Amino acid sequence: MPGFTTHYIFGFKAYQGLLPSPLKTAIKQHRRAYSLGQQGPDPFFFHLPSYIRKAGNPANYMHNEDLGLMLKTMLGFLYQNPKLADFPLLLAFTAGFLGHYELDSAVHPYVYAMSDPEATHAMKTLSLHFALENELDSILCRRFMGHRLNNFKMHKVVRITMKESLPIAELLKFSANKVYPDMKASSLLFQNAFSTEQFWAWVLEDKSGLKKKLIRRIEKLILGYPVYSGIIGSENLYPSMDDPFNLNHRTWVNPWEHTIESSASMIELIKAALSRYREELALINKLYFMDVERERFLRQLFRLIENKSLHSGLSPAP
Ligand SMILES: [Zn+2]
Repeated sequence: MPGFTTHYIFGFKAYQGLLPSPLKTAIKQHRRAYSLGQQGPDPFFFHLPSYIRKAGNPANYMHNEDLGLMLKTMLGFLYQNPKLADFPLLLAFTAGFLGHYELDSAVHPYVYAMSDPEATHAMKTLSLHFALENELDSILCRRFMGHRLNNFKMHKVVRITMKESLPIAELLKFSANKVYPDMKASSLLFQNAFSTEQFWAWVLEDKSGLKKKLIRRIEKLILGYPVYSGIIGSENLYPSMDDPFNLNHRTWVNPWEHTIESSASMIELIKAALSRYREELALINKLYFMDVERERFLRQLFRLIENKSLHSGLSPAP
């Protein structure tokens, strides 16, 4: 993550910025698949059976490393098979998935720097992690959708049909098994994760704000601090910290590489990710819908995507 809504709005802003083009048309025709793609591997965080799988949770594989390689495998497959019946659907989903990769890898280092500076992934650090993301969701929802987070019908924007789900799951299975053979992913696993995402998006909607209050109270009683109440889709009434978006430009350090410092605000990080993502979408459009110099566009696109970790934002040393 960032939060569900932030990913959705990121995709929406990128779509709005696209010039009329075949890619824009494909996304418009398959906007729910594109929005589901913007959630990246996060549906697996809501898929309880994935936590007890022998081969491990696919969300962890994809967030830790090599998602850049997996995206290149997906894009490469579409490059080789432009005549597929489901091509526009698969392209819209893959373009969305790329958006998740860019936003997570840009914003996560800051979120971890604030909530878990030694990258311990301890349960307690999730409290601030989720609270920060919830504040971002809340503010972006008001700014770009003109209403409170409580009124956002999350489950509707990612609800795809079974007919759409199967080819997407097949593409993910093919690409995941190439990049992460140990993950042992099946297309059914991906389809189940999509359904779970749609279900939890619905469960976590919280029009009145009561769900968050209640779960928060229970968590404080049992754990002593709130955790998952932070991801419930209502505005956060409990400020996570002073200056959560770093508008005062304090210096922060990448938890995975302490020599990397930054004073960027969360807003600047999102803007940089958006401009990079827009560049990638423009290249995708040229790559799949123009007849000339396609090899060159493919190389340019792959160079731009790199192979970043969604946690640290760092690419492995070449
Ligand atoms: Zn993520």
